[in-house]
Amino acid sequence: MLVFSSVMMRNNTRVRVSISILLTASLQLVACGQATQQDPADIVFLNGGIYTVDAERSWAEAAAIRDGEIVAVGTNASVRDLIGDVTGVFDLQGRMAMPGIHDSHVHPLEGGYEQVHCNVWDADSIDLLIGTLMTCDRNHDGEWFNAVGLDLGMFGLIGPDNSLLEGIATDKYVFVDASDGHAALVNDKVLELIGYDADTPDPHDGVIERREGSREPNGTIREAARDRVDKLRPPRSLRISTAAMRDAVKLMNSYGITSVYDVWVGEHEMQVYQSLDNAGELTVRVLGGIIDEGVFEKHTGKDFERVLHDRGNYESEYISYNSLKFMVDGVFEGETGAVLEPYDSVDHHGVLNYVPGELRERASRFYDLGMQLHFHTMGDGAARAALDALQYARERGSEEHKSNRHTLSHLGLVDPIDIPRFAELNAGASFTMVWGNTDEWTMNLEIPAIGRERVARLYPIRSILEANGVVLGGSDWNYGELDPLLSIETGVTRDNPYGPRSPAEFEVFGEGVVDLATMIDAYTINGAWQLHAEDLSGSIEVGKRADLVVFDRNLFEIDAPEISEANVDATIFDGRVVYRRPD
Ligand SMILES: [Zn+2]
Repeated sequence: MLVFSSVMMRNNTRVRVSISILLTASLQLVACGQATQQDPADIVFLNGGIYTVDAERSWAEAAAIRDGEIVAVGTNASVRDLIGDVTGVFDLQGRMAMPGIHDSHVHPLEGGYEQVHCNVWDADSIDLLIGTLMTCDRNHDGEWFNAVGLDLGMFGLIGPDNSLLEGIATDKYVFVDASDGHAALVNDKVLELIGYDADTPDPHDGVIERREGSREPNGTIREAARDRVDKLRPPRSLRISTAAMRDAVKLMNSYGITSVYDVWVGEHEMQVYQSLDNAGELTVRVLGGIIDEGVFEKHTGKDFERVLHDRGNYESEYISYNSLKFMVDGVFEGETGAVLEPYDSVDHHGVLNYVPGELRERASRFYDLGMQLHFHTMGDGAARAALDALQYARERGSEEHKSNRHTLSHLGLVDPIDIPRFAELNAGASFTMVWGNTDEWTMNLEIPAIGRERVARLYPIRSILEANGVVLGGSDWNYGELDPLLSIETGVTRDNPYGPRSPAEFEVFGEGVVDLATMIDAYTINGAWQLHAEDLSGSIEVGKRADLVVFDRNLFEIDAPEISEANVDATIFDGRVVYRRPD
């Protein structure tokens, strides 16, 4: 028997095989399982709390892993025979283990860049924001000063005014990415560079915010209006991005995450993943959605076609790019989310990023290539447009693609008549439930923009579940919190997961809660469904790859408001311990 840390080292070498070979191999192992029953396991878990998420949602006491595969699940007695001289024995002592967490909508490289750029995520007052920016400026050189995580909840619907940047990096281009990723605050030097002034009209798929009572830009720019700046910023280096991604993967592992749907992919991201993978440091499974041409595009025209064509060159055992990402609309706080009824704050329906007919033609093209489609939809108008596009593609597409799975993500509002269409069209519904509670953002931005009645219907996870839709959990990190337990808790309580229960007058969310088992399904077995990987991951069953997370307490045995206080003690990816909580 080995102490557990030495198992980590030994398991770092692994055989790399393609997924199809892997599946065949695992079938053979099951077939000859009887004969090899006594071969010692690499790792054995005893004395759980193992929530398997199998079809019966059963619990087990023990499990064993060999060569990255789960080879036994059952009682302590049933796996004891698999403990040999070199087996690492993990005594769960009643703690809970469950399948590794799948994040169904995330931007890992952007998350990694939080540590490269000036990070203002924790600045929840204007003084703190200015102080943080000033501190960063003192240690910064370069022509562009980039910051991330500006909390728009501190400001009204016209966003912050760039006068607050006075005295900060005055000789540099200042770009402060907002916490929603759809807006940015820039200084006058940037406004000059892109030529935005009182005479510039808003682009049709973006907003240039103006000072009260004038046409003068205030420095807050949204959607395509900020996209223009992104294109002028110096390109990222592979070296820095790889380091940023390495940190992002480690951080994801520390939250129990072992597979992700990266919805922000261009060739640079493919190169970054490849360099990590080649170094044996990619410890998550990745499905990458290549971002479509249009708003927030990474490639256009011939260049887009080249990246699409060559995507297979960057795939491996752990990585697939068989997906296309569409930014269908914006967000409520920018009045850019596409809504069926006009906004309360302005007399329009928000922004659909595709002209009529364009989305369905594009969706149809990638559908016919057998790709999985992923739609950003915040407003009910956008959800309708995405479902219409998917229906159009399915009606015209070949029978062989009918079983392909697609995703609508965010789903702030969904019109009741569209709710049953998720199940009908094989579209999963990805939610970031931590947004579904009442906070400063709700009071200062959402209620003024769309009104209390619509806010009470935000994130209709329960309705879609009751209509047999597949619900998924996504962080949207770094535009949302990475920690899945925050969303799991909020899905169960619809209350603020950071502190004590809110006073009743602030509880505006009425669309209903779901139970803990549903939220865990959303982050495990449903995630495997989303990736077409339910033979490989998503539950703890013999024959699947060993992706697991161990918590320091049993989530089912604590009060719901305590869920997000649980800690990840260990994360196992493909049979290797990739995270252990420091003592
Ligand atoms: Zn996103």
